Amino acid sequence: MPEDSATGGCLCGAVRFRIRFPTKWCAHCHCTMCRRAHGAAFVTFVGVVAERFAIEQGEQELVRYDSSASAWRRFCRRCGSTLTFEGERWPGEVHVVLANVDDPIDRAPQAHSYFDRAVEWVHPADDLPRLGGETGNQPLAK
Ligand SMILES: [Zn+2]
Ligand SMILES: [Zn+2]
Repeated sequence: MPEDSATGGCLCGAVRFRIRFPTKWCAHCHCTMCRRAHGAAFVTFVGVVAERFAIEQGEQELVRYDSSASAWRRFCRRCGSTLTFEGERWPGEVHVVLANVDDPIDRAPQAHSYFDRAVEWVHPADDLPRLGGETGNQPLAK
């Protein structure tokens, strides 16, 4: 029987969460803010409706950082693991950092968002759509 959820957590183990399937989408984000927040070339998020995401342990260790006037990220204050992104552009939705999910989820990454902001020192070899522009999700001219 297929699993109907996946668990995940931060590096130190204080914060544990669960995602219940189905998820909404999965994509790589190459925007500058994600790069800085995660210290990585890009970040892979899985989007879920808020009701399908639950912190099961360590909620008191989670810190909210407002990375802009309308969006915020949460990380573990003990180990610094970045765990979620939420914003007014995506009401009722939580973007969960896929790298901190333990188990397989119900879909594969579908696209590269904000690819026009991508670093020049990583070259993804997949055939996924390269998106960008104002919203980060518009088709880019080849
Ligand atoms: Zn932690
Ligand atoms: Zn981003």
